[in-house]
Amino acid sequence: MMKIVIAQPPIRDFYQSPHRHSAMGSLTVQKILEEAGHSITLFNFPSHSGEIHTPPLPRELNYLKAFLITDEKGPVTWFRQRKHFGPSFNDCCQQILSASPERVMISCLAWCYAEEAVLLAKELKKHSPDLPLDIGGAGVSVNPDWFRKTGLFEKVRCGEAEKNMTDLPGVKEESHMITPVLSPAYRAQGKLQYSTMLTRGCPYRCQFCANHLTHGRNFRKIAIEDLLILLEQTHQEEFHLNLEDDNLLADADYFCQFLDSFHFRYPGATLSAENGLDYRHLTHAIINKMIDSGFIRFNLSMASTDSQILSDQNRTGQQELLSDVLFYLKQNQIPAVTYFICGLEGDSLESVSRNLLFLASHPTEIGISPFYAVPGLPGFDKPGDNSLPESPALYCGSSVWPWNKNLTTAQLITAFRLSRFINLLKSENRFLWQNLIQKTLETCRLHTICGSKENKALIEVPLMDNKMSEIVIKNLPENLI
Ligand code: SF4
Repeated sequence: MMKIVIAQPPIRDFYQSPHRHSAMGSLTVQKILEEAGHSITLFNFPSHSGEIHTPPLPRELNYLKAFLITDEKGPVTWFRQRKHFGPSFNDCCQQILSASPERVMISCLAWCYAEEAVLLAKELKKHSPDLPLDIGGAGVSVNPDWFRKTGLFEKVRCGEAEKNMTDLPGVKEESHMITPVLSPAYRAQGKLQYSTMLTRGCPYRCQFCANHLTHGRNFRKIAIEDLLILLEQTHQEEFHLNLEDDNLLADADYFCQFLDSFHFRYPGATLSAENGLDYRHLTHAIINKMIDSGFIRFNLSMASTDSQILSDQNRTGQQELLSDVLFYLKQNQIPAVTYFICGLEGDSLESVSRNLLFLASHPTEIGISPFYAVPGLPGFDKPGDNSLPESPALYCGSSVWPWNKNLTTAQLITAFRLSRFINLLKSENRFLWQNLIQKTLETCRLHTICGSKENKALIEVPLMDNKMSEIVIKNLPENLI
């Protein structure tokens, strides 16, 4: 049996959150290979706290320079700098080689981080040219040829780990439909936090969603008992568990059974689903059960309020139901964040403004997800072909590239900043930012704070779409202004 290192490469982006780097895929690979008898060391480099650098902005992102206010502070900021999260590639390489692996399996969790995976592979090949390298993950599954062409990898593994490693000694064909895994804990808000997935796959066909490209459309679930066994091994009673499923509510009966079993065993634990809950499946009865079982916040996916845009994306929406869910959560004093996608095909300045104003008038924080292309989505088949840009860095949501050419980068950033401004108006801390709020409301122009502590200045944000700002700010609900 082999000594194998699994490596989650550092990533370069404008932000990161612990949930994004729970490394569910790498943990799945680890579990399958350990069950097959291999000796595994897993390095999740983006989670190495304190290892953050600021590399120069790559040339292909130069269009963002005009929008970055590097000394910006406060509650309505966009991003300031693109960072490298994790040790340097050389340090990663040294750490990996010190484990004396016979094979290294690199995980690329999204296509937008493909360059980082390749930079790590190049560093490893420089120091250990004969070491076999494999690569897998969602980023690989959507554009495997790009990785093959680098000539760095012995194996380019597409799709799910349960199916794509059967060539390795001891790995049984489809040993699990899906492998139950639990992320290592980190501490936040006074509690240990874990992540897991109960289910994988989603039977729906929203055109903007790329989950099926790796997970397929077949909805599968783990045995609830298997997760309880994993939780038992932590020896914790009061913790927070984040559920990272594609569509947790696709089988409501199963989800309710999970809530019953989980809460019965862990009455002091709390729950959330940061990837978003499909509000279309929520009823008062399910919400009550979720709250009673430990759900402390609801992250809801709205996509859009525009019925034509939704229908073109193969998605349905029910604004009355979403309203009802949000007011019901408020009645129960449960905070909500509702996400919409900005820059869908058919989106316009007006439709984005309507999304912002709908959410402004409801008891929810606004979450905005700029649309980003993923190779394999309709119209975005192959990076580099048909005038599609090749650089993976452009495919980050935070790069706000105008994929559908209907909204500019400036408009996407304006919408992002307006969502933060509305969140500030709803926040308990708004009294701390009176000048900023006043100036923005008076002028209908986005403002922000920049400069050092002693030398703070209130400035108008340059290059914003003032027409969008005006439509939104002039039509804000009375109770917010
Ligand atoms: S319901 Fe959610 S997970 Fe399913 S296809 Fe639509 S966006 Fe993707």
